[in-house]
Amino acid sequence: MIKLIRESKPTYLSDEKVLELTEKFKSTKSSVWNNNHIKIPLLRSSYGKCAYCECPLTSESNYMEVEHFEDKNHNEDKVVIWENLLPSCKKCNGSKGTHNVIQEPIINPYVDEPKDHLSMRLYRFRGKTDKGKNTIEVTNLNHRSRLVLSRFEIGEKIDELVDIAWERYSIFHEKRDTRSKNKLISVIEGLLEECQPKSNYSASTATNLLTDSKFIDLVSVMKANGLWVDELECLMNTGSILVLDCT
Ligand SMILES: [Zn+2]
Repeated sequence: MIKLIRESKPTYLSDEKVLELTEKFKSTKSSVWNNNHIKIPLLRSSYGKCAYCECPLTSESNYMEVEHFEDKNHNEDKVVIWENLLPSCKKCNGSKGTHNVIQEPIINPYVDEPKDHLSMRLYRFRGKTDKGKNTIEVTNLNHRSRLVLSRFEIGEKIDELVDIAWERYSIFHEKRDTRSKNKLISVIEGLLEECQPKSNYSASTATNLLTDSKFIDLVSVMKANGLWVDELECLMNTGSILVLDCT
């Protein structure tokens, strides 16, 4: 889970429209929030991912649901209140169900900084606070086959790429030519791209890569050899913001 920034309220959700849709929901129970004027800006603000688990929501098999932070059954007046809506996958939305976030608060990534409440160990989140612990349990953030395994598979790929990067560094060290330098930079760029907010499961990947001593050592030798270009520094800085404490 990463911190998200809510876009300003869509013009579609005027006061009159909110009133109209809320009344319609109360009388018909229809999904009045299922509208692209609502869904598209939500999806854009979460980089096309679930706001809770960071799984991609753009594939056919994993479409987005509009999640009501304060659940729609007990808070009918908030069914189309912009600040109450989040883009979510079907699984997280289903797990959270009618959980009461007022009685037992969970992380709202548009309001809270997830790093303050979550740490990570072996591809699994741990709660640093009660809010973090509640979030893990309520949204099932450590579902083994769906989430822990997905994070692990990316972690494995990242680990292999770090080895490849070291091999490319050795080649550069021998040849000192532009071609081997570019090949090294490109593999590092690929690694850091996986740690950007737009990447799936980015909090997990950024935490794993950017705290890996093998990667940290490589960054040091690249800097010492003048290979650490501005583009890499920029990607590194954005990725570093997502890193969780390791426990
Ligand atoms: Zn999810």
